[in-house]
Amino acid sequence: LRAVPSLPLPTAGDAESPVVPAVLSAGLPVPTLDGPTDYANFDHAASTPALVSVKAAVDTALRTYSSVHRGKGWASAVTSGWYEQARAEVSAFVGAREGDEVVFTRNSTDSFTLLARSLPRDTSVFVFESEHHAALLPWKARQTVRIPVPGSAADAVVLLEEALRTRHGRHRLVVLTGASNVTGELWPVRELAAVARRAGARVVLDAAQYAPHRRVDLDELGVDYVVLSGHKLYAPFGAGVLAGRADWLDAAAPYLPGGGATRSVTERGVQWHTGSARHEGGSPNVIGAIALAAACHALREHAEAIEAHEDRLGKALLEGLREIDGVQTYSLFGDEHERVAVATFTVDGLDSSLVSAALSAEHGIGVRDGKFCAHLCVDTLLDDPYSAGPDTAVRASIGLATTAAHVERLLTAVADLAAHGP
Ligand code: PLP
Repeated sequence: LRAVPSLPLPTAGDAESPVVPAVLSAGLPVPTLDGPTDYANFDHAASTPALVSVKAAVDTALRTYSSVHRGKGWASAVTSGWYEQARAEVSAFVGAREGDEVVFTRNSTDSFTLLARSLPRDTSVFVFESEHHAALLPWKARQTVRIPVPGSAADAVVLLEEALRTRHGRHRLVVLTGASNVTGELWPVRELAAVARRAGARVVLDAAQYAPHRRVDLDELGVDYVVLSGHKLYAPFGAGVLAGRADWLDAAAPYLPGGGATRSVTERGVQWHTGSARHEGGSPNVIGAIALAAACHALREHAEAIEAHEDRLGKALLEGLREIDGVQTYSLFGDEHERVAVATFTVDGLDSSLVSAALSAEHGIGVRDGKFCAHLCVDTLLDDPYSAGPDTAVRASIGLATTAAHVERLLTAVADLAAHGP
């Protein structure tokens, strides 16, 4: 056998690495969405189209891929290097601390379920009822304290303080969201995390809606774990992240018991890995992880420009909707509270599903209607005991490819619907 020449492994900054692609041009890394050229996509809070640089990263990765952490061949070594480089990029994106783990999952729902299964037995979980169902529902096997939907940011702090006074598991976990998927409003994460810390509780941050718009930093926000999804960060479906403290994760039963998660298997028993490998059994979604990391890289690089772009269009959207007769907009914490570029509204006398269908069919505009997987939150927002008002709403959410012309088109279309119906 001739010796296989040893080839260099990719390193951070390597132009050939799909994780740090060299294709980012100046300005915003605008994603592309094939389809009607006049389509106006206002559904970014659900899922985002892939960035140009993410597609390039996936393309590069698909040209050389093999097994990770198993094979000894060159392709396997390169792929394993890229996979771990993706983990390092995500770790930097969330500001992970020394000793924190970054586990690749399928999505945010999967990340929450992994954390739920990793909680020590005597853990009480404190969760606001306004949470997305992915953050609200996976705690069944533990004592759960449901906190009512707050009416203001200050109210949220008081309600959490009260809740933490009531019950005492030996361990406590507080579930917080960074930005509401219903209203886009930013939660007072630092203040709430400080309250939790004073009560000896850990905090998990649902950053599914926050991370595409604002910088996540575990340490700076004062949280212990963070959860996010690739498909909301301009990468494809199928890859998410749970990052944070290692001890509970290392002590928990492996999430996907099998190859890759084991150190050794003998007749006498199994020794499991600690670290991310413990919960990433089987062959991982390497391409998804690389895509997610490439998106994190781009979003970090363009963070300021992204925030400015979205802020400008988000304000125009919300203010424009508020000026239309017969249109109601909604907020948990008051109209002036800071939010990411999401607006949730109803049109008087029209069912929300009819509004979204008319926007799509007549105006080429994509929005979402319903309760947005946060039923208790939407029920609280829409509840008016003195009227037979709407029970679902329409959500318009802005992304990197949204333009001022798109916002204008949406406002004109909604005004037309409010005045004349579909
Ligand atoms: N958390 C929030 C705030 C969300 O908006 C979503 C998705 O809409 C999720 C969690 C769940 O994300 P995924 O569907 O990727 O599991």
